[in-house]
This record gives sequence, structure tokens and C-alpha cells, in this order.
Amino acid sequence: MKKVSVAIIGAGPAGIAAGIECKALGIENIFLFEKGTNFCSTIRRLYPSGKRVDRDYKGIIATSEGICSFHTETKEDFLKRMGNYIDKYCLPIDYEIEINGIERREDLYILKAGTFQVAEAYVVIIATGVFDRPKRPSYPIPEAVKDKVFFELPKEIPKDEKILVVGGGNTAAELACLLAGKCEVYISYRRPQFFRINEENLKELEKRKDDIKFFLGTEIKALEAFKENVKVIFHDGHQEVFSKIFYCLGGSTPKNFLQKMGIEILDNKPVIDEFGESNLERIFLIGDIATKKGSIMHAFNSAHRAVKRIIDKYPKVKSL
Ligand SMILES: Cc1cc2nc3c(=O)[nH]c(=O)nc-3n(C[C@H](O)[C@H](O)[C@H](O)COP(=O)(O)OP(=O)(O)OC[C@H]3O[C@@H](n4cnc5c(N)ncnc54)[C@H](O)[C@@H]3O)c2cc1C
Repeated sequence: MKKVSVAIIGAGPAGIAAGIECKALGIENIFLFEKGTNFCSTIRRLYPSGKRVDRDYKGIIATSEGICSFHTETKEDFLKRMGNYIDKYCLPIDYEIEINGIERREDLYILKAGTFQVAEAYVVIIATGVFDRPKRPSYPIPEAVKDKVFFELPKEIPKDEKILVVGGGNTAAELACLLAGKCEVYISYRRPQFFRINEENLKELEKRKDDIKFFLGTEIKALEAFKENVKVIFHDGHQEVFSKIFYCLGGSTPKNFLQKMGIEILDNKPVIDEFGESNLERIFLIGDIATKKGSIMHAFNSAHRAVKRIIDKYPKVKSL
């Protein structure tokens, strides 16, 4: 079992930034635990190749507060940047370790992966994101159409198919643009217009307006199998058949994971102070898991704020 001052769970943008801030501010004895086989697993899995990674995401102009920052660039360049950060700050990361329990033992926390105790830590930073649990629609998805309904990008991008993208955020917009020209693309969103989409994505949608059919202000009531396809029944009575449906509804807070550890949840979000500290002293939450408006710059900045607070409030952390 590792004995560390700070254990960081998750090696995405938030966890990596937290590791870097710790090292830069003199906390040497840290360790990151990542369940994937590589860092930034969410980004590797969910971003299409060549995707533009926007610095000002969801229409929010991002200013950087800490060490980590980036300018709008491709997925591949962004991953290279994060790899360089890891090397430069010599961040120790154990891969394929999924932390699923934290227990307090006197003044320390024990991190568990299944029945194994993997680390003993004075401070714990949880940076596990929300995208392991994509939000699902409220209506059931019939068994017969399950293989035609997706919550993330498939390995092979479909061609010459009739696709419905459901959602009104940047992810839905980017997916519709990616498929436009390759497939017959429809986008269904319950609001009458897009909400919190980047300027860039609005422009990209505008450019492809002849290749994408917009079903705005529409709500889906139910799905049914129809031959080899999926029939979508809308609340206004309209019905349309598609070969595949992609839901882009965002991620959801892993409530059970947090509640099992004793972290309070209110309105589906963990209760934390302005620095990310939870009701359990010395357990901090940063990045997507700690906010309703996640972005990479938010992940970087929340890591900076949390680590500064850890040093101010728990100065002993540097000497452990
Ligand atoms: C399709 C898509 C496009 C996006 N485009 C942009 C964009 O252009 N610009 C932008 O700013 N934001 C964008 N975002 C949002 C951005 O990706 C997130 O805000 C950001 O990744 C959050 O970082 P994070 O470190 O909090 O979480 P994540 O990136 O989700 O990282 C969490 C890490 O923790 C690991 N993990 C999870 N559970 C455990 C566990 N129990 N034990 C150990 N490890 C665990 C995961 O494997 C993962 O590596 C996009 C999101 C999506 C889905």
C-alpha cells in the first residue's frame, strides 16, 4: 500500500492539473490512480479524431488561474500537451486502478480498489469526471433497438445511414457536423433554439444547414423497433424511422460512488465549498464532478484553487 500526502483519483485534465499544482507548490509525495489504460481516458474515448478542443467552451470565456492552460487546438495536440505536462512534472500515475471506496482510518484515508487497499493518504482529490455515466432519456429503450442506440461515438463512423442526434449542446452539434455529408442527419432538441453552444459550433451548423435537418422544440415520447431500424415517436405525434440514434445529453454525477464514501449530495451535485472541499475534511472534488458547467479550463482552474487551499489550510501536507 502506497503512503502519500495527496492521492488523486482520475488522470483527466483535472487530476493531472492537480498533480502539477501539488508538485509546483512543493507537495512531492503524491500519486494519481487512473482506471483507464492511459491518461485523459474520457477525451480519448469520446472526442472524435481531429476534434477541435475549444478553450472557451459553452460560451464561457476562460481565463487561466493556475499553471495548466491551452489554446484551442486538435484533440491530438491537446493529448500531446497533457503528455508533456506529465513528463515535465514527473507525475507518478498507476493505470488500470479503479478506486471504488475510501475509508477513514484515524487521521488518514484508505483508498480501495475492490477489496485491495491501494493507498493511505492524508488528502484525497477526486477528479473522476462524469462521463462514465452518460445521461439517459426518461423513456425506456426497447431491447430490440439497443444495438442501434448510442451514448458515445462508435469506433467506425457511420456512412450513408439515416441518423438522429439527440441533444442541444456542443457535443450534439459537433457530432451532427461530423456526420453531415456522410449520412442523412437529423438533430432533435427539446428547446426551440440551441442553448449554450459555442460561436464556432453555431457557425459550423450554419455552414451545414442544408445537410442537417433540425427538429427543434421536439420531444421524443418513445422508441420502437421497426424492421431493422428504430421508429421514433415524438410528443406531437410525428413519427420517423432512423437506422441509428446518438444521444448527446452529457454525463451525470456518480452519486452512489460519492454517497458510499459519505460525501453529501444535494440537487444531484456534491456539497462542496468554494475550494472544492467536501463535508469530509481533506477530501476535495475538482473538475466535472464538482460543477454543472464542466470544461477543461474549469478543470485546470478548480485544481489550482483546491491545491492552494490544501497548502493554506493543511500546511502539514508538505512535510508528510
Ligand atoms: C464529446 C465532448 C466534447 C467536449 N469538448 C470540449 C471542448 O472542446 N472544450 C472543453 O473545454 N471541454 C470539452 N468537453 C468537456 C471536457 O472534456 C470535460 O470538461 C473535461 O474532460 C473534464 O475533465 P475531468 O478531469 O474533470 O474529467 P474527465 O476528463 O472525465 O477525466 C476523468 C478521469 O478519471 C478517470 N476515472 C473515472 N473514475 C475513476 C475511478 N473510480 N478510479 C480511477 N480513475 C477514474 C477516467 O477514466 C478519466 O480518465 C467535451 C466533452 C465531451 C464529452
